[in-house]
Amino acid sequence: MLDIEIAQENEKTQMRPITEIGAQIGLSADDLENYGKSKAKLSFDALNRLRDQPFGKLVLVTSINPTPAGEGKSTVTVGLGDALNQRHQKAVIALREPSLGPVMGMKGGATGGGFAQVVPMEDINLHFTGDMHALTSAVDTLAALIDNHLQQGNELNIDPRRILWHRALDINDRALRNMVIGMGGPLSGVPREASFDITVASELMAVLCLAEDLADLKQRISRIVIGYTYAKEPVTVEQLQVTGAITMLLRDAIKPNLVQTLEHTPALIHGGPFANIAHGCNSVLATRSALQLGDIAVTEAGFGADLGGEKFLDIKTPVLKKTPDTIVLVATVRALKYNGGMALKDLTTESLDHLQQGFANLKRHIENMQQYHVPVVVAINRFTSDTDAEVAYLVDACQQLGVTAVPTTVWGDGGRGGLDLADAVLEALKQPSNFTPLYDVNQDVKTKIQTIVTKIYGGADVQYDAKALQSLKLIEQNGWDKLPICMAKTQYSLSDDPKQLGAPTGFTVHVRDITPKLGAGFLVVMTGNVLTMPGLPKHPAALDMDVTADGVISGLF
Ligand code: ADP
Repeated sequence: MLDIEIAQENEKTQMRPITEIGAQIGLSADDLENYGKSKAKLSFDALNRLRDQPFGKLVLVTSINPTPAGEGKSTVTVGLGDALNQRHQKAVIALREPSLGPVMGMKGGATGGGFAQVVPMEDINLHFTGDMHALTSAVDTLAALIDNHLQQGNELNIDPRRILWHRALDINDRALRNMVIGMGGPLSGVPREASFDITVASELMAVLCLAEDLADLKQRISRIVIGYTYAKEPVTVEQLQVTGAITMLLRDAIKPNLVQTLEHTPALIHGGPFANIAHGCNSVLATRSALQLGDIAVTEAGFGADLGGEKFLDIKTPVLKKTPDTIVLVATVRALKYNGGMALKDLTTESLDHLQQGFANLKRHIENMQQYHVPVVVAINRFTSDTDAEVAYLVDACQQLGVTAVPTTVWGDGGRGGLDLADAVLEALKQPSNFTPLYDVNQDVKTKIQTIVTKIYGGADVQYDAKALQSLKLIEQNGWDKLPICMAKTQYSLSDDPKQLGAPTGFTVHVRDITPKLGAGFLVVMTGNVLTMPGLPKHPAALDMDVTADGVISGLF
């Protein structure tokens, strides 16, 4: 059965009104702003009431490097939440919102899979409660206001060649990467080079995800540097006098969205930055609410532990003011065999040799996460083609590293398939978590980058393009160098070269540019060939999608 068929069946027969799901975690009907029967936003009153409530335990789900074989991080996150509830724990899940880019492109939605999904699956994967649209509108409104400022006399003396603010669209559209706008004479604007990012990579998405409340959102928006003057002085949103308008457009988008899993576990789904080109974590408000509404919050960071995991730990936790009590690393036999050099078409054949080779990738991620001094549990997301010998090998190899690895079948069995994992997590939660950050934000920028490259990626050195060094000079001159680092890097490899699988060492990471994101409060370091506007593949998923005359959707995974 396809993911969408399982979800559609459940939505027809078993999905509960969202007010009932809210009631399970102490939210009254007044605390919820309903978007239909099965989706709601938490009201400002509810968020204000929660503000000083104590936190439960935090479980962070991350994974090995993703491969075309699939790891199932969201699937395991959902299944673990369901399993913890079956073990009579009050667990609340916090996930990111899907972007239409991967939905229409190649990777698919972000609502889990099989019998470990959040519903209503179609709504969540498509327009949900409109947060992406609000963000896209806000990003483009700011861009329009900047271009209008140039047109109306450019009082702030903005250098059109040094505008950092990009327009956005929540779809993969490579044709919008580089363009000249303002063509057509004096009435059609000031000509300049411009570009689009995918909405999930825009600074406003990061700002929304890191804001603690509406007042903080406003503060952060006011600080955003949109570019520089001819004298290379920074220009902020505040100087453009549009902080109020941009914040207003995000008034509702900042409220976390509540939905349910197939087994009625409450799930907050909010904010969706990619982990390769952005910081990869759902909103601080959603995770914080999950920590306050439940005894255990299970949340996911995007792509591998080198990207989403690292950024969760070094960028998000200082704002969240809570560090994970346990980290769950998701691995699959298939993806590890792929990392061990096995061809994609052969992955369903047993191969302990390739598994052994590929295990180096999992080992690196385990050791990386252990550097933070948080207990680590490995979840082996079982596929039907995995053999018992392969799974046993992985359990044993992890055990030799002193780490518990637990096979899970949540995709096929729902929460029931994750009970062993839930038990292992509950056991890990009893151990002390003495979180230690990877680097000190007060170190200089190059030292922080070098630390991430050597301690997390396993690289030897960092090489900077002239453009990156120029940007770094401006960053230092403006005193922005004491911010955390948000690496933009391929998700497919620990290095900045997507072809280097397994656990490469001794490589040099190439830094193309460094962009200050003062609203988000981090510096984005662009490495390798990673782009902030992805392209669609040869056979985009969109080609297989359809909707019938009576509204039934197919092809949405
Ligand atoms: P991630 O969060 O790591 O990107 P997802 O949880 O979104 O991965 O899963 C990606 C796809 O793989 C989904 O379509 C899901 O149904 C499928 N999938 C996940 N786990 C399994 C499994 N154990 N067996 C078969 N398919 C799976």
